[in-house]
Amino acid sequence: MEANDNKQEILDKRYMRMATIWAENSYCTRRKVGALIVKDKMIISDGYNGTPAGFENVCEDENGLTKPYVLHAEANAITKIARSNNSSEGATLYVTASPCIECAKLIIQAGIKRVVYAEKYRLEDGLDLLKRANIEVAFLNLNE
Ligand SMILES: [Zn+2]
Repeated sequence: MEANDNKQEILDKRYMRMATIWAENSYCTRRKVGALIVKDKMIISDGYNGTPAGFENVCEDENGLTKPYVLHAEANAITKIARSNNSSEGATLYVTASPCIECAKLIIQAGIKRVVYAEKYRLEDGLDLLKRANIEVAFLNLNE
C-alpha cells in the first residue's frame, strides 16, 4: 500500500531526526551517534556513544583515539532495555550511523526486526550480518 509506505517513511524520518538530536548528548568529540528503539509506536529506549556508567565522560585518549571501552549508541540503547522491564523483541532500531559488526550481533540477539540508519560507513559487514539474520535494513537520507 502506497499510502502506508508514505506514512512509515514520515514516521521513520521523524524518529531519525530525534535520534540525530539525541546524538548531541554524546560527549565524544570524534563522532556523535544517536539511537532510538521503537516498539508499537513507543520509544522504549535510547542511547548515544559514550563510556560505561561511572566512568569519566571522555571518549578519547590523550592521542585523540577512541577508548576501547566506549560503547556505541546501539549497544547503550540495547543494554538499557536489559535493565528495564521492557523487551526489544520485534522492535525497530533507529541509528544515525550504519551499525558495526559488534552492534549487529547485539541487534540480532536482542530480537530487533528492523534497522533504519542514516549515515553510510565504509565497512558494510555489520549491515551484511543483519541481512543474513533476516533483519530488515533501511537507509534513510535525512537531507532528501
Ligand atoms: Zn557499533
